[in-house]
Amino acid sequence: MPSYVVPEKCDGCKALDKTACQYICPNDLMILNKNTMKAHNQDPSMCWECYSCVKICPTQAIQVRGYADFVPLGASATPLRSTDSIMWTVKFRNGTLKRFKFPIRTTAEGTAVPDGGFGAHGDLKSTALCAEPAALGLPAVFSLTGGK
Ligand code: SF4
Ligand code: SF4
Repeated sequence: MPSYVVPEKCDGCKALDKTACQYICPNDLMILNKNTMKAHNQDPSMCWECYSCVKICPTQAIQVRGYADFVPLGASATPLRSTDSIMWTVKFRNGTLKRFKFPIRTTAEGTAVPDGGFGAHGDLKSTALCAEPAALGLPAVFSLTGGK
């Protein structure tokens, strides 16, 4: 099941330039109706149920089918984020509630080093990933096309 925005819970991110769900969706699926100030998924068939919008929504307005390994069919899973963890509330078909807390980072907020300290090469035309070849411990990245 693709993402579904519960209209009663969505406040349009209080009319910010871009809503949180628009900002986070890797497929640019979320759209805001400026008249109603409610967001919705404009192309559900393209949603890969990545849960990013579900986790970032500040009002817990977005629902996506839970993965079967922790949410059986017919149940719902609602996340509540803090700076270092997510508290999941799973509601089963018979009304039973279960909650579990899942850590989401190993460093203090704001201290992660994006390039791992290896130094990003900054060349957008390079075929190497940002910290390669240093991150691989190699002098150069092997490429079939002869790229850097
Ligand atoms: S992030 Fe949540 S509250 Fe904000 S626009 Fe999207 S669904 Fe609505
Ligand atoms: S679940 Fe992922 S792909 Fe689907 S609308 Fe939300 S952020 Fe986009």
